[in-house]
Amino acid sequence: MFSLYVHIPFCRERCLYCDFFLVSRLDHVERFFDALAGETRAKAPLFAGKEIGAIHFGGGTPSLVPVSLISNWLSQVAGTASLAEEIEITLEANPEDLSQVKFDELRQAGVNRLSIGVQSFTGRKLRALGRAHSEVDSFRTVTMAMERFGSVAIDLMCGAEGETLEEWEGDLAHAIGLRPQHVSVYMLTLEERTRLWREVRRGVVDLPGEEIQAAMYRQAQAMLTVAGYRQYEVSNYALDGYHSRYNLSSWKREPYLGFGPSAHSFMVSGDEEVRFSNVCSLTRYLADPAGSVDFREVLSPEQRFDEEVFLSLRINRGLPLSFLRSGREAGDGNLDEALSGFAEKGWVRIEDDILTLTGEGFLFADLIAADLIHG
Ligand code: SF4
Repeated sequence: MFSLYVHIPFCRERCLYCDFFLVSRLDHVERFFDALAGETRAKAPLFAGKEIGAIHFGGGTPSLVPVSLISNWLSQVAGTASLAEEIEITLEANPEDLSQVKFDELRQAGVNRLSIGVQSFTGRKLRALGRAHSEVDSFRTVTMAMERFGSVAIDLMCGAEGETLEEWEGDLAHAIGLRPQHVSVYMLTLEERTRLWREVRRGVVDLPGEEIQAAMYRQAQAMLTVAGYRQYEVSNYALDGYHSRYNLSSWKREPYLGFGPSAHSFMVSGDEEVRFSNVCSLTRYLADPAGSVDFREVLSPEQRFDEEVFLSLRINRGLPLSFLRSGREAGDGNLDEALSGFAEKGWVRIEDDILTLTGEGFLFADLIAADLIHG
């Protein structure tokens, strides 16, 4: 499947923990969409004539911008490539931006999946995360979205300052009660140079430790699974048939083309696999959208192997053991030793030559992948 991604780099203000590329001033939105149209024309040869299976508007906060600008860009794409009949068009949205009118406009524009950054259903926790919306917004927007969209995804975050396991269970129970088709569960991570990082360093904020975070992760697995959601990736759960096609496709290393500042792309041409990314500067992007790519690399066989192992273990389709052996030194006994060690801990299972992580193993996915690659 071939997908498109658009990074819309605007937010009202930066949340305490966020290190994404964005700006918190909105006076360049129209100029940004002019530049996006220019970048799309320049990159047209890379996707002209292809069938697009998914389009994902991420950011930033795509729900902040006028829907007419989203709609115009979709028309431009439809004039260059064909959109699959069953195309998934997802837009990431924040609860404070959503109204009935906005929902209707988005649907008319062709958006058929909303991904809402709920994070929590308690005001205390939302404030601790520095989010701009209230708990009332969280309930109201998910309820309204469920009435208007056939596919609604929500993000929840655990590990905020002062958060207890009981508070987290409450968030999960509220999410399950609203019955969105998809739930993503993220553990709060401390990214360098964020406000939260500075506050933790100064000793002003104390976050729950790793053990509590792990307990929260396991609690999410337990409650969501009992409620009928299937964990198909380390952080993602869906009712049957409602996984994110865009995300799953990128984890399966299928090609996608990114637009907007900081957007990444992965393209396959014959035997060559290329990753490239756009400049992380709105000023430079606006000045030269056609020349926005500032990093490009052709993947070496070792990089391809590493990516395949890392990404395949994150999803529940797993990895053929024969593939894993093919990338390691012939007769490397450490691999079998490592695998039986992980199996004893209950982190991996092997069936018909396919290695998959267990629910508990998902908690250690990066560690397991690194060990299997590098020994
Ligand atoms: S709304 Fe999302 S992208 Fe914007 S600052 Fe908050 S976490 Fe970052």
